[in-house]
Amino acid sequence: MTKIERLSDNVYVFTSDRYVQVTAGVVLTPDGAIVIDTLPYEDETRFMRDFIEGKLGSVVRYVVNTHFHSDHVFGTWIFTGAQVVAHALCAELLHTRTREALKRAQQDSPDMAKVQIVLPHVTFRTSQFRLTLGGKTLILTHSPGHSPDLVTVLVNEDRVLFASDTVMSVPSIAGTGGSLKNLLGSLHDVVLTDVEMLVQGHGDVILRGEIRDSVRGQIRYLQTIDAHVRRTLKRRLSKETLAKFLLVSTNLVKVQMGGLAENLHQTNVNALYDQLRRSVRPYPSTPRATARPVRKPAAAKRASPVRKAAKPAPRRAAEPAMRKAAQPKAKGKPAKTMPALRKVDTGRKRTLVKARKSK
Ligand SMILES: [Zn+2]
Repeated sequence: MTKIERLSDNVYVFTSDRYVQVTAGVVLTPDGAIVIDTLPYEDETRFMRDFIEGKLGSVVRYVVNTHFHSDHVFGTWIFTGAQVVAHALCAELLHTRTREALKRAQQDSPDMAKVQIVLPHVTFRTSQFRLTLGGKTLILTHSPGHSPDLVTVLVNEDRVLFASDTVMSVPSIAGTGGSLKNLLGSLHDVVLTDVEMLVQGHGDVILRGEIRDSVRGQIRYLQTIDAHVRRTLKRRLSKETLAKFLLVSTNLVKVQMGGLAENLHQTNVNALYDQLRRSVRPYPSTPRATARPVRKPAAAKRASPVRKAAKPAPRRAAEPAMRKAAQPKAKGKPAKTMPALRKVDTGRKRTLVKARKSK
């Protein structure tokens, strides 16, 4: 059954028990209610609407979509007559990615048959947007990282922050446009926001005294997986080796979210590997092999790549280094033209530096 909690006189949070503890909020004002996200299944969001109209005697004027992910927006259509508010990027992604996701969901699940995508009526591209109604001010802040369009919603008068998926027991960066770097920035912003209560996109409400530790723990987790994946790439280890890097090896030990926590973690590290593989340069392994013979002059003469590299124009000197650097990658994926071209320059610089040092 959907859980309802009253966080202050006018602020409620609903938590799904059918799909990974997704949360949705309601802010009550004398002029109507504002809903922040919806719940994944039709009956859950209908339950919300019935509670707002029946128990609270209000009408929903606005629905804020915090980001385009299905589990947060599939119930928007139930609030007919409400104005939908979202970041402009969210509107674009709803139109493309969420529509595609809905088609797939409707093929798999009869529960989704009636769901329709509602495109936002009010959008903004600024870093903040204020939504006011009946004496309440909701401050929507762009908070990219989990997804590029995400906004957090601060109920200013009540100091309740609906952080959406910027704050999750296991931070998630694996979806479309997810970015670890951006999420770190957004989490730092959350730490600096002075609030009484923080509603995560999934899971329990976090109270004032626990917010900083909890969010800092998530920052540390992201830094840990970033370092691990970079090390993996530098050591030229395959993506498969990441399967041994379990969630228990990070600082996040007491994580709820059912069995999904480990999945989320694995999806994160795999996505990060793909994101970083073009920018992280492996430790030089083969250049060392060519450097060794330099100590023994006789062997150096025999090492033909070195001689070839030293003699002709600098462009040629760069080529063997470039090819060597590209080889391990070529095992998994065919090398593409652009990254290879970029490597010509960096490879050349390296060779030149080496040459200078060896003098
Ligand atoms: Zn999400």
